[in-house]
Amino acid sequence: MEKNAGESNGKSKNKFDIVIVGAGISGMYMLYKMRELGLSARVLEKGSGVGGTWYWNRYPGARCDTDTLEYSYSFCEELQQEWEWPERYPTQPEILRYLNHVADRFDLRSDISFDTKVAAATFDESAGRWCVRTEDGMELSAQFLVMGTGCLSSPNTPRIEGTDSFEGPIYHTGKWPHEGVDFTGKRVGIIGTGSSGVQSIPVIAKEADELFVFQRTPQYAIPARNGPVDREAVAEIKADYAGFRARNRLEPSAQLSHYPANDVPALEVDDTERDQMYQERWDVGGFPFYGAFNDILINQEANDTAAEFVRSKIRSVVTDPEVAEMLCPPHTIACKRAIIDTGYFETYNRSNVHLVDLQSTPIEAITANGIRTSDTEYELDCIVFATGFDAMTGTLLKIDIQGRGGLSLREKWEAGPRNYLGLSVPGFPNLFTVTGPGSPSVLTNMVVAIEQHVEWITDCIKYMGEHDHDSIEATQKAEDEWVEHVNAVAATTLYPTCTSWYLGANIPGKPRVFMPLPGFPDYAAKCEEVAAKKYEGFDLT
Ligand code: NAP
Repeated sequence: MEKNAGESNGKSKNKFDIVIVGAGISGMYMLYKMRELGLSARVLEKGSGVGGTWYWNRYPGARCDTDTLEYSYSFCEELQQEWEWPERYPTQPEILRYLNHVADRFDLRSDISFDTKVAAATFDESAGRWCVRTEDGMELSAQFLVMGTGCLSSPNTPRIEGTDSFEGPIYHTGKWPHEGVDFTGKRVGIIGTGSSGVQSIPVIAKEADELFVFQRTPQYAIPARNGPVDREAVAEIKADYAGFRARNRLEPSAQLSHYPANDVPALEVDDTERDQMYQERWDVGGFPFYGAFNDILINQEANDTAAEFVRSKIRSVVTDPEVAEMLCPPHTIACKRAIIDTGYFETYNRSNVHLVDLQSTPIEAITANGIRTSDTEYELDCIVFATGFDAMTGTLLKIDIQGRGGLSLREKWEAGPRNYLGLSVPGFPNLFTVTGPGSPSVLTNMVVAIEQHVEWITDCIKYMGEHDHDSIEATQKAEDEWVEHVNAVAATTLYPTCTSWYLGANIPGKPRVFMPLPGFPDYAAKCEEVAAKKYEGFDLT
């Protein structure tokens, strides 16, 4: 291991102990931890600033749906004590302000290269080092390579015939213009009703002259019930922030320990009691709704009761019964990524908002003037794609990553991602993926999942240094058993029963593999056990 952090400024200025790709929540913390170990690190970031997801997703209404006091770093007591969040859920500008504050507070920028897109990374077996190449031709050499590239960082723009012919501007929620967009007086078309669509539609509707929502699949949404943070609750949490974080880590999704799931199956109570329990959590707002019973995500009949409750709410809010039916999802609830909303269904009561059902009238083409479906052409001034991401593997596979013997990650993952612990891939020594597929990642509070991975990787690198190991690589056996384990856990849930980005089903041709692993506490315990057993399942040399 190169102990000389100063080497980056010395004889070989592009030689580092570690190269980190991405300056989002993962990459920033990874850099902080590597500095603590006294290692030389360089972060390569495509954007012009820190923040990752929160740097790119600047669409109207963008907001996190995890409670503010949980969606923040826990590694620094002063940081978590001094930062004040104004509302229950943080807005995108607030999170970005927070992450910029973190970058400034810990002087992180000096080790980050912005506007630097990584094109390729090749493992040089003779040197035992990674050679990282950027799109502008820079080459860096590092013993370790950490991909902090995010789970939702490759925007998906579906190929629709005629898109290039559209005469107005086209936006994607995942790469929104920094200067913002003024929809005043405009006829706007938006494609997509996932989290980004559901958040932006009510805001755009208030500004635009007319808004046409092109919906392929209706979605369930639980009211956020956002508002100012409860100062008393904040003071209570801050009096024992460490305890609060520790309790959250014991929850399956590493959050909401103050509103845990009821340990009762949905069908064990009568209809009246069941509706009362749903109503209670509907009134609280946000993800606690899904904890009304302990089997909503594992028992289809139980799930149906939650789904019907939400459908009844949609019907009670939306005044036009035909529109209400179009908005009622038929599928398993929370099987696609759950959505939290603010005034989404109410928006369809506005006279300037029009719902277009793509199941009965699919899009045929984008024309010079708008969007043509099978029954009519909608004239539009601009189009918003709220069509999501090539999730979890998209960004990793855009980079040409080649491991031992020229093995390419693209080939290795041709039939879907395979790895050990979501962290490491056989054939790719000293490469770590933060919140990679096969780890809880997107099924948890992302910040908790990121911190757990970064800390595990840091401990591993420290252990290697202390025991004179230069290389770590997951074994094939460990990978095989891990993939089997992830599939077996997913199969105990209802997650794989519908088309979602968790499964890769939103990208034509992408292999259908359930990518995240449900259950943070068991996973974190397994990672600890692996480390305690001197990195069981890895070859260390
Ligand atoms: P998404 O959930 O994948 O939703 C994409 C939407 O576009 C879906 O309604 C999809 O319909 C539709 N769509 C895709 N291709 C289409 C096509 N060819 N024609 C018509 N419709 C098409 O993407 P997202 O809304 O950007 O959210 C992605 C994830 O980011 C979320 O699930 C969440 O994890 C995260 N996120 C979080 C927040 C938050 O914290 N509040 C906010 C935004 C995003 P189908 O359902 O039929 O595929």
